[in-house]
Amino acid sequence: MILRLLGLSVFLYLFVATNELSAQFDFGEYREVVQTIIESGREKNESYDKLIELCDDVGHRISGSDGYNQAVAWALKTMIQDGHENVRSESTVVKPWIRGHESCELLEPRSLRLSMLGLGGSIATPPEGITGEVLVVSSKDELDQLPDEAVTGKIVLFNFPMPPYSETRGSGYGAAVAYRLNGAIWAAQRGAVAALVRSATAYSLDSPHTGTMRYLPNVPQIPSAAVTIEHAELLARFQARRIATQVCLKMEAHSGKEVESANVLGEIVGRELPKEIIVIGGHLDSWDVGQGAQDDGAGCVAAMEALTILRRLGLQPRRTIRVVLWTDEERGGAGAHHYAETHRQDVQVAGIESDSGGFTPKGLSMEMLDRDAESRAHERLRELLLLLAPLGRLEAKTGGSAADISKLKPFGTLCMGLNVDGRLYFNTHHTEADTVDKVNRDELNDCATMMAAVAYLLAELPGRLQD
Ligand SMILES: [Zn+2]
Repeated sequence: MILRLLGLSVFLYLFVATNELSAQFDFGEYREVVQTIIESGREKNESYDKLIELCDDVGHRISGSDGYNQAVAWALKTMIQDGHENVRSESTVVKPWIRGHESCELLEPRSLRLSMLGLGGSIATPPEGITGEVLVVSSKDELDQLPDEAVTGKIVLFNFPMPPYSETRGSGYGAAVAYRLNGAIWAAQRGAVAALVRSATAYSLDSPHTGTMRYLPNVPQIPSAAVTIEHAELLARFQARRIATQVCLKMEAHSGKEVESANVLGEIVGRELPKEIIVIGGHLDSWDVGQGAQDDGAGCVAAMEALTILRRLGLQPRRTIRVVLWTDEERGGAGAHHYAETHRQDVQVAGIESDSGGFTPKGLSMEMLDRDAESRAHERLRELLLLLAPLGRLEAKTGGSAADISKLKPFGTLCMGLNVDGRLYFNTHHTEADTVDKVNRDELNDCATMMAAVAYLLAELPGRLQD
């Protein structure tokens, strides 16, 4: 009897608990409000106007530069104008990298100015430059197989072609970026005097792509720069024809003294659980070329405008929605580290970072420390995204989020990255061509609208997706 009673109460408990849980995630209840957010986000959306101001009035903004500080002032002013609460900057320290003048000249077999960009973090060459014969390899394996005498004293060019975008595998950036990051280490370990890398892109109109590189403590530091696909291929063709090439690389690149920089924050404070926070954001810094429009001006303005869409509608959800614009993502992530450290006591339920450009939204990629919580959140996120069907087919994927938001993973936060149509992103990524004209107004508007709708739901639902 007791056992039967026990069984019954366990059954009743499970029944009630499951029902309570499903009541917490009765997404159908929110269909109407989501519809309103989407309509409003498509009717009145100032994302693109914000992006024009950031890109045209401020321009590029590497962390530690005057441009970055102007971007902070602009973001503060704009979020105050939009009527947000707790708009503030939070200071941290960054180590600036200054490009200075640079050039890469082909001297032999003929004179030609090569299109190049020094890589972030690289040291300078001596003032007269480094002149040497170019050794072209298509992979690290190929370099490893060469005898020392073939490499010593040479300028090594890694001519690794980035695989083109594919629907199933996405971009080939991961494979190519290893060369940009490590090329100077691999070349120096074999006695080379400088390292050139083919730009990390699958498509080129003679535009070199910069990006960060690194050194190792026990490996000699040599200067490193990116050249275009066109010029990497030219040098490779000369080598294939056994025509020796001489190049003179000149770079003034250097690191400056640590300076103050800042993240920028603004909020809609929650009506019931103001201490529980949903973060949306992007990184406010960019490389020191172009306008940082797709990377990551688009992410910043989409998050800012998402908050404004909700405020215009007078929606004050249960939890707080906080916009965070991080500094220094490109140069080492000082902003993300600082934010994670100073806000480790906050209850940060979930966060979405947009850092893949302001293209047509395709869904969210997510990660959590606790795998069980991750799979619960994944299931519910898939269901939640069905509400946003007017924005297209949006998928929830596991396997990662984005650089800044992922620093909240140790604290149990559901970390998400905004997935977009990624076909064009790496064509202009980290180049002079990453300018506002490359961003489509309607596509960017939909990014902001999607962020607004998802952030609102995460902040308003009685339960958390991961519980
Ligand atoms: Zn970025």
